[in-house]
Amino acid sequence: MDSSKLHALILSSPGMGHLIPILQLGESLVNHHNFEVTILVLTTPSSAESQLLYPPTGPKLFNIIELPPVDVSGLLDPDAKVVTQLAVMMREARPGIQSAISAMKQEPTVFIVDLFGTEALEIANEFDMSKYVYIPSTAWFAALTAYCQVLDKEVKGQYVDQKEPLRLPGCKALRPEDVVDPMLDRNDQMYPEYVRMGIQLNFSDGVLLNTWEDLEPTSLKALRENEDLLSVLKVPVYPIGPLRRPPEAAGSRIELLEWLDMQPSESVIYVSFGSAGTLSAEQITEVAWGLELSQQRFVWVVRPPIEGTVDGSYFTAGNVPDGTPDYLPDGFLTRTHKMGIVIPMWAPQVVILSHPSVGGFLSHCGWNSTLESITNGVPMIAWPLYAEQKMNATMLTEELGVAVRPKELPAKKVVGREEIEKMIRTVMEYKEGEAIRERVKELKHSAEKALSKDGSSYGSLCEAIEDSKIRLPSRKAKSSQ
Ligand code: UDP
Repeated sequence: MDSSKLHALILSSPGMGHLIPILQLGESLVNHHNFEVTILVLTTPSSAESQLLYPPTGPKLFNIIELPPVDVSGLLDPDAKVVTQLAVMMREARPGIQSAISAMKQEPTVFIVDLFGTEALEIANEFDMSKYVYIPSTAWFAALTAYCQVLDKEVKGQYVDQKEPLRLPGCKALRPEDVVDPMLDRNDQMYPEYVRMGIQLNFSDGVLLNTWEDLEPTSLKALRENEDLLSVLKVPVYPIGPLRRPPEAAGSRIELLEWLDMQPSESVIYVSFGSAGTLSAEQITEVAWGLELSQQRFVWVVRPPIEGTVDGSYFTAGNVPDGTPDYLPDGFLTRTHKMGIVIPMWAPQVVILSHPSVGGFLSHCGWNSTLESITNGVPMIAWPLYAEQKMNATMLTEELGVAVRPKELPAKKVVGREEIEKMIRTVMEYKEGEAIRERVKELKHSAEKALSKDGSSYGSLCEAIEDSKIRLPSRKAKSSQ
């Protein structure tokens, strides 16, 4: 290990949607800022996670430490939600993190955790590291997370039952139906966990955000200048995005690439609900019919139906599928085999979205997926399912103008085939979708500008790195004693 380099230790909470942005941050620190990076991961990686952590080709960018598994079975209700499960797992992982750092030959200088890792921030003090939280999401979401401790006192009853939007100082107010999952039920354990995470952002030296100045000027200004927000988030924010990953190896999906190569430019709609998203059997049928009626070419990542939940594959994301899907409408695969490709479970999403023949994305609006779409200039159909995705969908449709969304989701349980057909045609071909198609290309350029050497996000990460060096003198003094 090169001791002249700064050494970042980055802790990822479980889940592909959490690991991917952590790896992107690590990559950026290694490739553009001359860092040594060690990634700490919890849980045994799935096959897709292993591919990301240990790519078979290319240079080895990081040291990876797999933390010992934690047994949380005795600590969780059988019906504990994903957020609660993650919070408890990360809490129980702390002794393993301490041991891992103690065993490292060269102690890291900077400790970075994601939102689920805020309880581990105190470990940084023991080892004299600077400490940062990386929220791979929007500034608007960060403002809500920090401000939830105030809403907790001000708002009576359930958030979802409020008649008025929730006030977020200096930011766009939040419609009650758009609140994040942990705020859906204040009596559920995930709610106090979420409020706690917002409070603990202040245990860090700063918060890194996967957004950029021109994308969210209002929320970023509020986080920096609004007195009410500053009284709850006292550390600086650094918009460093959009961090992107390069197209992944297509692996066994060569036939998919060959098929995409044969399609006209921007003629294919890509349909995927993230790493965890699942639909009901009835909804899968409607999506299938919607695709067929739209007569557009498509690539659809499908998962077996699960009733009553929308993040049903969180802990199994990237697992290898077994057999062809038998839950699609009778004859669908035969009727559409020239028009589209159905991929069970997991697809090389960045390869697909960066292919010139892809012209639309029906997405659950996870922030990684959203950024992958925007940075490839692909307009979206916003179909939020869980986490902060309803906020993202609102931002994409009402503020940024790069997406359409179903009229009554999520209140309405099933979106019908005609509405799906219309949304697909709007994004792909109708004149009324032209503005959306143009706007997303503008945002693509704005993202490129932010990431360039004299861009705002590059500068913001440089600033965070400079600020992080504050603890270095005391370490040097210690080591020379
Ligand atoms: N992803 C992928 N293939 C899939 C589904 C998802 O590569 O079939 C990747 C996607 O490119 C993104 C991440 O998984 O980088 C999902 O993150 P996001 O924030 O969009 O949603 P989450 O899964 O966290 O809900």
